[in-house]
Amino acid sequence: MRFSHFAEIQSALQSGAATVTEVVQHYLNQISQNNEALNIFLEVFEAEALSAAVSIQEKISAGKAGKLAGMVISIKDNLCYAGHKVGAASKILEGFESQFTATAIERLLQEDAIIIGRVNCDEFAMGSSNENSFYKPVKNPVDPTRVPGGSSGGSAASVAANMCTASLGSDTGGSIRQPASFCNLVGLKPGYGRISRYGLLAYASSFDQIGPLTHTVEDTALLYEVMAGKDPRDSTSIDAPVTAWNQEKEKPKSVAILRDAVEAEGNDPEIKAYFNNLEKELTENGITVNWVSFKWLDYLVPIYYIITTAEASSNLARYDGIHYGYRHPEAEGIDEIYFKSRSTGFGKEVKRRILLGTFVLSSGYYDSYFGSAQKLRRLVKEDTEKLLENNDFLLLPTTPAGAFGLDEHTTDPIKMYLQDIFTVQANITGKPAISLPLMTDSQNLPVGLQVIADSKKEQSLFGFSRYLMDSVHNKAVS
Ligand code: GLN
Repeated sequence: MRFSHFAEIQSALQSGAATVTEVVQHYLNQISQNNEALNIFLEVFEAEALSAAVSIQEKISAGKAGKLAGMVISIKDNLCYAGHKVGAASKILEGFESQFTATAIERLLQEDAIIIGRVNCDEFAMGSSNENSFYKPVKNPVDPTRVPGGSSGGSAASVAANMCTASLGSDTGGSIRQPASFCNLVGLKPGYGRISRYGLLAYASSFDQIGPLTHTVEDTALLYEVMAGKDPRDSTSIDAPVTAWNQEKEKPKSVAILRDAVEAEGNDPEIKAYFNNLEKELTENGITVNWVSFKWLDYLVPIYYIITTAEASSNLARYDGIHYGYRHPEAEGIDEIYFKSRSTGFGKEVKRRILLGTFVLSSGYYDSYFGSAQKLRRLVKEDTEKLLENNDFLLLPTTPAGAFGLDEHTTDPIKMYLQDIFTVQANITGKPAISLPLMTDSQNLPVGLQVIADSKKEQSLFGFSRYLMDSVHNKAVS
């Protein structure tokens, strides 16, 4: 028995070939066999998942089950689930328990999804390799000598290792799409405001979005449909209708390939070859393909790291050793509690970002860094929108190559930050973007094809994704 996507589970449940308990047990077995080696789950909700399985089985028999009955989901360690621990993979939140449940999780539970456990990630979602976790790195199930990507590395690895049907991650600058690229999965960052951020531990609030990682476009679309929509608890969630995807392939009139991204120095050579073949295939099918240039490419990573660290320095001020989690045992007096708890409770990368964010916001530097980055953010958004006026979608690689080795970039933060070069545009502009498991690099490692759509166009994004998966899957790779 191997369930790699939801339709398989549903048909097994329908025909009686499997029960919900057997599905959960199957995943629990996978976890017990491989979790120690891969370091994915921080906690497995075994008893709870098994008892949910029994009640959901009853609902199925009574014909009262929700849309996700039989789907087994892991959650990133930065999502609140009442009565369960949440720690952002940080020492500073060790032992902290959620008081309430994230809206996204609440909506999954209402449709009878089963939450199987809490998975590892980079501390406070800051990282591109899952090596910034207080709980040690996750290993990539595709090749355990390599990173799974980050920050939702545990989420991606849990799905890739078949320990669950799907996972929830968060994406501030690529943290869903980049691990999806490295682990051969579909990963969606919805448009900003589409899925409520209520119950997501904040990193950079004007960028953060929750989204799914799955094996198929169908499962991603279904999870999106269940989770998306206005939430009165998140004032940035948008009030626009969310319809069910009609499962149809969608063939656009014209698409743009971002030349600067595809031809970027340092990309694996297979990427360029893939896009050349893709162009041929799309053109043969009557789709206009425009190679376009985007002059802001080299500015994207600096804009991203200036604004997100500024927001993080403010968001993370709440972890002070007084209100939450860890307090240094030898601290005396309020100043010392703040100082010692924060100095020893946060990891190196988180502290680097708090310092950077505080610096770019400081008087004297505010205008030249934070102010300029905000202005550039606007220009990037305007130019991205211009491209989307003339083209239905933008196409570019998700990552410059397949997964890199464990420890390969840990000593050079700039190298690590440059891993995000192709993913941050969607967050800077708030546009929806998906990574599809369609490419391989010269070492035969998976690399994602990224598709960016205009705001509120998630349904078309799924339709075109389905089209791409069917028409070019593996064929366009030279
Ligand atoms: N790799 C990026 C960073 O380190 C993205 C993180 C994210 O999307 N949460 O900031």
